[in-house]
Amino acid sequence: MSTLNPRQQEAVRYISGPLLVLAGAGSGKTSVITRKIAYLVRECGIKAQYIVAVTFTNKAAREMKERVGQLIKGGDARGLTVSTFHNLGLNIIRKEHKRLGYKPGFSIFDQQDANALITDLMHRDYGADDGIEGIQSQISAWKNDLVTPEQALAQAKSPAEQTAASVYTHYNRTLKAYNAVDFDDLILIPVVLFREHPDVLEKWQFRIRYMLVDEYQDTNASQYLLVKMLVGNQARFTVVGDDDQSIYAWRGARPENLAQLKEDFPSLKVVMLEQNYRSTSRILRAANTLIANNPHVFEKQLWSELGYGDPIRVVRCRNEEAEAERVATDIQTLHLKHKLAWRDIAILYRGNHQSRLIELKLQHHQIPYHLSGGTSFFSRQEVKDLMAYFRLLVNQDDDNALLRVINVPRREIGPATLEKLGNYANDRQVSLFQACAEMGLAEHLEPRYLERLQRFQRWLDGIRTRCAKEEPIGVLRDMVLDLDYENWIRQNCSSDEIAAKRMGNVWFLLDALKTTIERDETGETDIEDAISKLVLRDMLERHEEEEDTDRVQLMTLHASKGLEYPHVYILGMEEEILPHRSSIEADSVEEERRLAYVGITRAKRNLTFTFAARRRQFGEVIDCLPSRFLDELPKEDLEWEGTDDAPVEQKQARGRNALADIRSMLKS
Ligand code: ATP
Ligand code: MG
Repeated sequence: MSTLNPRQQEAVRYISGPLLVLAGAGSGKTSVITRKIAYLVRECGIKAQYIVAVTFTNKAAREMKERVGQLIKGGDARGLTVSTFHNLGLNIIRKEHKRLGYKPGFSIFDQQDANALITDLMHRDYGADDGIEGIQSQISAWKNDLVTPEQALAQAKSPAEQTAASVYTHYNRTLKAYNAVDFDDLILIPVVLFREHPDVLEKWQFRIRYMLVDEYQDTNASQYLLVKMLVGNQARFTVVGDDDQSIYAWRGARPENLAQLKEDFPSLKVVMLEQNYRSTSRILRAANTLIANNPHVFEKQLWSELGYGDPIRVVRCRNEEAEAERVATDIQTLHLKHKLAWRDIAILYRGNHQSRLIELKLQHHQIPYHLSGGTSFFSRQEVKDLMAYFRLLVNQDDDNALLRVINVPRREIGPATLEKLGNYANDRQVSLFQACAEMGLAEHLEPRYLERLQRFQRWLDGIRTRCAKEEPIGVLRDMVLDLDYENWIRQNCSSDEIAAKRMGNVWFLLDALKTTIERDETGETDIEDAISKLVLRDMLERHEEEEDTDRVQLMTLHASKGLEYPHVYILGMEEEILPHRSSIEADSVEEERRLAYVGITRAKRNLTFTFAARRRQFGEVIDCLPSRFLDELPKEDLEWEGTDDAPVEQKQARGRNALADIRSMLKS
């Protein structure tokens, strides 16, 4: 406690009512949560199993758990829940599945699965193959706003809305038939459950004596309602957030939830923190000056005692290739000359596509890096195949999974057979898997086709039975061997090297399952839970990997939230990139400014911006303008660098500097 400042201590000690810690970046909000958990357990005698902390990513959750474990020694942290909103929702659905009408081992549909299902429904019911994405995001928005299919149908006015609402109805019905839930359901279902069954809510309220939420500014409507319900009238909770770091409005996040708290909980105590423990004063000043351009409900001023620090560099480059090359050589120098660890350096950018060139250059210079995002481990074909097998093992009703694997590897089961199977299952109102085992199917299929289906059904059933009796990971390993999956991969790969890599992913997946089971201290995780957890992790953690080795970190600005690095590079500081073109067109650059603010405040000691004078876009080379956000930074803290052989960019940069001068003159 003595290492915390008085305001932080106040926030940690205040447990008698609802508390909001509202403070800028790096002021120790997350630290307050961690310390508070330790305080609740050690000083207030609240058992860890009654405490729930919610973080934004699984990685943050893992780190927090680890830190709490260090603060509370001797196993007192056992049973503590630190998870994301979605994991918390999953837990609730798992424990209440009976009342909700789900069978155990229900499947979780990720974006891709949901997309495939919607495509299917659209095709079948409307003969339409376009506009799938729009419908998918509309359904997601409805779910996040707690709008049921019935309400959506009632509200729909235009024919397009009516179609979306009717697809929503079918989509939900099909999910239920598959014994599956989607990503948004993980929050929606618990909220609806609690609303309709006060007794269940009461049980959960009793189980959660204290709740803490990090990154509160990025919660959406349904997440907020979930918190509100779980804390109940007792309202024992601490939420921490920073409205200036709200960067997920596009995903339904509502920074207004901060103000809403005061209305919903009139006794809310608010603590503001102002000392930043992360960055030099110069970096902070830049962040403060930039964000001052946004309108503010809450005024915050951050200060730091970490010295004024080096100037912030702005590096002009000829084109995007020169930009990537410059950053790579710069990093190499830092590492060789200044003995800096790779992991102390982060490269941030607005969009995933920006990572390609920089990756190439890092590889070229043999700089180890870790890319967050990009092609996710879980979206690789072999991983999706295996996951589908696992899903089918724990949930027979998952028709989607069955269709994915029935011919992987090939079992000579053709589309006509599958169609007949589908029709039969539909008539009988059973899943495809169950239909395979029914006697009646014989009337619809020739014996040799029936035999193929039944062979598959028996084989999988055998594995399921073994999983229940023996050590399941070993059984799954046998299953992969029995499938001769390696051979299948080899037949479908252009080289042995790629095949070996893909097989490596298969074994890695099995290891991941194993660790998921072993890591759970409560001993409650069985193979079914482990699989649902893995599916969930896939969706949330696409950009997070287990190993924390010494590598340069590459990620989008969005993914950098909550993290910190001694040296930070922000690429592509150009108009139309940051701020993004779509937000300029929509005249909504404020969220982009917050995104820049998040990026800047990740830096502890050094910050470098880069931008290119020219860039290839859609096969064309276009001239770029430096970002308006560069103009908004304090001029005296910036040090411009760049080559003289780029007259265009210089002219532009000077032009913009002159503009900035005029603006700041007008301001003063
Ligand atoms: P963000 O808004 O980016 O999520 P935050 O407010 O959650 O930031 P933390 O990540 O908790 O801030 O803290 C930033 C850094 O400051 C961390 O390295 C943390 O260990 C350190 N820190 C926090 N409080 C103190 C303190 N009282 N004394 C020294 N260091 C501190
Ligand atoms: Mg934080």
